[in-house]
Amino acid sequence: MNKNRRLCLVLGDQLSFDLASLTELDSQRDVVLLVEVREEARHVPHHPKKIVLIFSAMRHFARALQQQGICVHYVSFDDPLNTGSVPGELVRLQSQLQFEEVHLTECGDWRLEQSLKKCGLAIQWHTDTRFLCSRDEFSSWAKDKKQLRMEFFYREMRRKSGLLMNTNGSPVGGSWNFDTDNRKALPKSAVAPYPARFSADAITQDVIALVRDQFANHYGSVDVFDYPVTHADAQSLWGYFLDFGLAAFGDYQDAMACNEPFLFHARISAALNIGLLNVRQLCSDVESAYLTGRIKLNAAEGFIRQLIGWREYVHGVYWLKMPDYAGGNVFGNSRPLPEFYWTGKTQMNCMRQAIGQSLEYAYAHHIQRLMVTGNFALLAGIVPDELCEWYLAIYMDAFDWVELPNTLGMVMHADGGYLGSKPYCASGQYINRMSDYCRSCVYKVRESTTDDACPFNALYWHFIMRHSEILRGNHRMGMTYKNLDRLPESKRQALWLRGQMLLAKLDAGESL
Ligand code: SF4
Repeated sequence: MNKNRRLCLVLGDQLSFDLASLTELDSQRDVVLLVEVREEARHVPHHPKKIVLIFSAMRHFARALQQQGICVHYVSFDDPLNTGSVPGELVRLQSQLQFEEVHLTECGDWRLEQSLKKCGLAIQWHTDTRFLCSRDEFSSWAKDKKQLRMEFFYREMRRKSGLLMNTNGSPVGGSWNFDTDNRKALPKSAVAPYPARFSADAITQDVIALVRDQFANHYGSVDVFDYPVTHADAQSLWGYFLDFGLAAFGDYQDAMACNEPFLFHARISAALNIGLLNVRQLCSDVESAYLTGRIKLNAAEGFIRQLIGWREYVHGVYWLKMPDYAGGNVFGNSRPLPEFYWTGKTQMNCMRQAIGQSLEYAYAHHIQRLMVTGNFALLAGIVPDELCEWYLAIYMDAFDWVELPNTLGMVMHADGGYLGSKPYCASGQYINRMSDYCRSCVYKVRESTTDDACPFNALYWHFIMRHSEILRGNHRMGMTYKNLDRLPESKRQALWLRGQMLLAKLDAGESL
């Protein structure tokens, strides 16, 4: 046995030089293991660009560690000895090289963590310190609370981090949350910055060829891969956003526009979630931009809230509630995910735009996910599990810890309101207010019961009517049910019938 030698396994979403399990690494003695495996790439049909991102970033990270003098053992996807699973590779390497200690940082996926815990090796686990709030800390905060609310957790994180805080403990600007200033529709004159693009080097080109060959049956395009795969390029993407996107991000973070997949969004979530960026640095940069007068408070607060509020909150909820959380289906949905989610072949322009860009770029921003594709699935009564799989597969930044609570809890309200106090359901009016999608749609957004009426309208009221038993008692839904009760019976019936007809079409496998 090689006394005192450590084997440190680094997963594809743990590509951070300050990863807890790497901090005490001895370059003379220890070995870092990275593995590209079939099971992780195929357990859902991940978008080819997502696989390229992770494999290429892993290869670049391995090279960077080697350049620091660290011994790296890298198992590529097409290695004939590759067993195809992370635990399989860890056990294989350990039985060959007989390290005294095996080290690993907490996983981002309950399924993978369980399989590693059962692989028969005595792993020394490290807390993932890349999050501001550890699993234990979140669990203490949540203890004895009947319902959790992100807003209160977020305030704790503001206090803990000191971000946008006055010295007397009050929030800068006198308010914790400027969300109401972050919902402006896009003016016609607004010009989104051309997105920063990064050319694929030889390593990435090799991975693209591998992915084209091995994952040809996965939905999504691998053409034009221009996303950063190194820490340096991820910093450039971030710098580009600070210079050209952040000032307008606050105002227009909920806006949507035809053929504008990125608008003022940072597109950094995938780089952040695999470890190429550091959440503390991002927040500190945004705070500095506010303090030096480069951006308004609503832009700074809105961005910081996404990172130390929602992101940390869903991470905490995931680890607090798994594995039971994954089975939530409070509305008893049984309708399969329509085929057009995988192809974009629908006449609903909002859905075609959001799905089309998702298939092309493996990216859509949070309102497209929540209020277009997610909203439709909620209204149409799609099985939560199927929508979760779609989000996990299609988005470059989707890892189970972040995707599951966002989709099952926030989008589908399938956890019965544990994560969000009311369902994020909306008719076509919301989409019309926040986008230009409806102007070029075959459906009429102002109609609800005619043959050419926007499907979101009747489906919205159908959803409200069919789940009245569950939702009517929710005080945040009071106004919605008042509005329903005010409608003439004939109108309610017409909405119900059109909703029934649209759902029957979905059940028959037709597109809308
Ligand atoms: Fe979407 Fe309805 Fe607007 Fe068409 S009319 S883009 S379906 S919201």
